[in-house]
Amino acid sequence: MTKIDRKFSKELKKYGAFDFTSCYNCGNCTAVCSLATKDEAFPRELVRLSALGIKEEIESSLKPWSCYYCGECSTYCPQSANPGELMMSLRRWLTARYDWTGFSGLLYRSLPLLVVAMLLAVTGVILFAFFNKFEAKPIMHLGHLFEMFAIGTVFVVILLPNIIRMWYLAVIRPGTNPSLARYIKGAGTLFIHMFTQKRALGCDNNQRRWFEHFILVIGYLTLLLMTVVFDWLGTANPIITVAGYIVSIIVFSVTADFVKERIKAKREISRHSRPSDWLFVIWLFLMGFTAFIVRLFVDVDLIENNIWIYLIHLTVLVQWAMIIVPFGKWTHFLYRSFALYFQEIIKKR
Ligand code: SF4
Ligand code: SF4
Repeated sequence: MTKIDRKFSKELKKYGAFDFTSCYNCGNCTAVCSLATKDEAFPRELVRLSALGIKEEIESSLKPWSCYYCGECSTYCPQSANPGELMMSLRRWLTARYDWTGFSGLLYRSLPLLVVAMLLAVTGVILFAFFNKFEAKPIMHLGHLFEMFAIGTVFVVILLPNIIRMWYLAVIRPGTNPSLARYIKGAGTLFIHMFTQKRALGCDNNQRRWFEHFILVIGYLTLLLMTVVFDWLGTANPIITVAGYIVSIIVFSVTADFVKERIKAKREISRHSRPSDWLFVIWLFLMGFTAFIVRLFVDVDLIENNIWIYLIHLTVLVQWAMIIVPFGKWTHFLYRSFALYFQEIIKKR
């Protein structure tokens, strides 16, 4: 029997959605969405499910991840129900449902809590620097170890169980039983979408945004590789040094453009930015920019007497690795890729 949660629309509004209950089911939104297909009709279906409060079905749906928020549906909605923003809110809500710790939901719903978490990270870094007597060498060495440890731990302890939970909700619980061959055959989809997000190219007039996004993903992953594996901030290797400069410039220039777009708020995607959206782009910018400045200070021999610049970078890094990556918008990158993978393996042929 279908369970109905009458308070669901109220709950969803805490994740950003508004006015979707004014939908009168005309179907314009699905008609104009260039990513909707006969087998995969959205966003109208999700607007209806949300308005009715059919939570279980939404929880198992992978469709919110098929939307790349071009905003066409919202532009053509005669009721201003804003289906594009509803899809975005559903992605935030699903992120909270997948997260076994419950922190995602708490941080999405409460700005004061998010601020407290960010301040705790600042306090942790100050105490860490204090106990290391503000000396550059041990602080930078331990900072690098922290990066390696944080990435591995966050992935194994938080992200992996969440992906398993997502798989259970979307693949196992609805009773689909894909063969092992399907999992193996579909694996390519996972990596293609993870690195290229090529489905976003299907949105009208989206080439520039797609290209910027593509460059950013490659730049970000390379920066991660440079700093974590090749210790970019501490290496004497000239090739790694130059490569690190290039990718950090890519990361902060592209994200600066994203921040500018959000400030201008001309496109539908930027009109309803939530704290999690701002945090994601600003902190990604800061990651690239502060890493660039730290490396510059290392190269001109100023870092010993200016450890504060590394501490700013470390603070951004800790907030990024402990808050934004496991519980914030960063997870969308991962869940979207897995959603498209799961969709591929449960697809009827
Ligand atoms: S276009 Fe607006 S009113 Fe029509 S179905 Fe979509 S959300 Fe509802
Ligand atoms: S925002 Fe764009 S991709 Fe998403 S449902 Fe609306 S029209 Fe489709």
